[in-house]
Amino acid sequence: MTNESGDLMEKIVSLCKRRGFIFQSSEIYGGLNGCWDYGPLGVELKRNVKNAWWDTIVRQRDDMVGLDSSIIMNPRVWEASGHVSSFNDPMADCKTCKSRFRADQVFCATARDGDNVLLTAAVEADQPDDVPALASEKANSKTRRRLEQHADRIAWTIFRADQAPAGEVAVCPKCGGELTEARKFNMMFKTYVGAMEDSSSLAYLRPETAQGIFANFRNVVDTSRVKLPFGIAQIGKSFRNEINPRNFTFRSREFEQMEIEFFCRPDEADRWYEYWRDARYQWYIDLGLTSDKLRLREHEPSELAHYAKACADVEYAFPFGTAELEGCANRTDFDLRSHSEASGKDLSYYDDETKERFIPYVIEPSAGADRATLAFLCEAYSEDEAPDENGVMQKRVVMKFHPRLAPVKAAVFPLVKKEGMPEMAEEIYRALKKAGLAVFYDEKGAVGRRYRRQDEVGTPYCVTVDGQSLTDGTVTIRDRDSLEQVRVPAGEVVRFITERLAGA
Ligand code: ATP
Repeated sequence: MTNESGDLMEKIVSLCKRRGFIFQSSEIYGGLNGCWDYGPLGVELKRNVKNAWWDTIVRQRDDMVGLDSSIIMNPRVWEASGHVSSFNDPMADCKTCKSRFRADQVFCATARDGDNVLLTAAVEADQPDDVPALASEKANSKTRRRLEQHADRIAWTIFRADQAPAGEVAVCPKCGGELTEARKFNMMFKTYVGAMEDSSSLAYLRPETAQGIFANFRNVVDTSRVKLPFGIAQIGKSFRNEINPRNFTFRSREFEQMEIEFFCRPDEADRWYEYWRDARYQWYIDLGLTSDKLRLREHEPSELAHYAKACADVEYAFPFGTAELEGCANRTDFDLRSHSEASGKDLSYYDDETKERFIPYVIEPSAGADRATLAFLCEAYSEDEAPDENGVMQKRVVMKFHPRLAPVKAAVFPLVKKEGMPEMAEEIYRALKKAGLAVFYDEKGAVGRRYRRQDEVGTPYCVTVDGQSLTDGTVTIRDRDSLEQVRVPAGEVVRFITERLAGA
């Protein structure tokens, strides 16, 4: 992470804490690594993200049904899915400082200018592309200048800690000590069901919601009159004992997923794969990830899992590097076939029209609610200037959330706490609440300060009752982004705001 982007991430994390978006879990006891709590504003933001997903994926479509399956399932599910044997990440420890790393996310980089070695450094990164910038940060200022000035002739050699070429040793990103060989670590959390703690009661917290969908495929087909092609969608908590949780909520041990399994005929799978890949990418753009930080990356054939025919990631350039928000894969008939074989239950589909029986192919767009929320937070964060009550320009932090995602849609202020202004403001506040909007009432402090507090949490509209309101019944509505203020009759405020939110 460069200094500048490190500062930006720090500002976002600190705003999240200061304004009640995201807190460290069990903070009063020193926290718990990889676990986070969403505060009053964060829970609204994340709920809006999940509702936007559910609305687009389930409510607005004719070919999708929803599901809410249990977190703890029969452990045979995870044997059949392959998670018991292979849901592993490579883990390596530093022989000197004892820090532990995910070996596929530690990169050792060397920068050469001709025969001259300018820098060797190890860094943690989600993507190899980010390595040169991250490694340069570790150089002294003189070397860094050289790396920048001669960027076009500098050659970088980079290897992953678990793929060190013969003769090379992977080193620790923290202290430079030697790393151990990578060994496999299964990321499923184990627990025991019932009173006995032995192998017969061993169970797992689900590491993904997807398997609950496959396990219910037969139930849904038999009860819901669905016909191919159709999908089953689920939002829910998943748990992974990540070796090294980091980058705020991006890599947590407890997180929420939003997953679709879309079943189709094998000969239509390529077309549906392309459809879902593009539709899911567009969803983020429609909700405000409009910058070039968002990208769609098709996997190379060498990156594909053995059962997958195609896979693409929706990625976002976070301040800490570019990383996956969602993966979309054509998983063929691998999952239904594995569960059918392991359970002995028929998970095929009979097509009345073609009179064929077959195991459907599945397209899986798998997203993380916390990662999406973090991307929306990062994209929204901006600093600009706005005039205070005396018309003097002041720096402000403004969260430019898409209005649909903004945790508070409108704030209502009486300009001063007298002359009947609070009563009129309160009436508008009640009317907005009755219309189903998340609204905030504030009568404390200078109005400019109240505006800035709302800008900082991304409230799209601020309604102010002032002296003129008492004589002509109009109020001002201030737009968060354009800073324009319009006068609207008090009775029109609900319509004005709801119309604009609906059109956003
Ligand atoms: P990564 O390579 O980043 O570990 P993954 O490829 O293992 O992710 P998937 O198994 O495809 O992730 O999970 C689907 C989605 O679930 C991810 O795109 C991400 O949004 C979310 N997700 C996965 N692991 C985590 C985590 N530890 N914390 C937060 N979200 C996660």
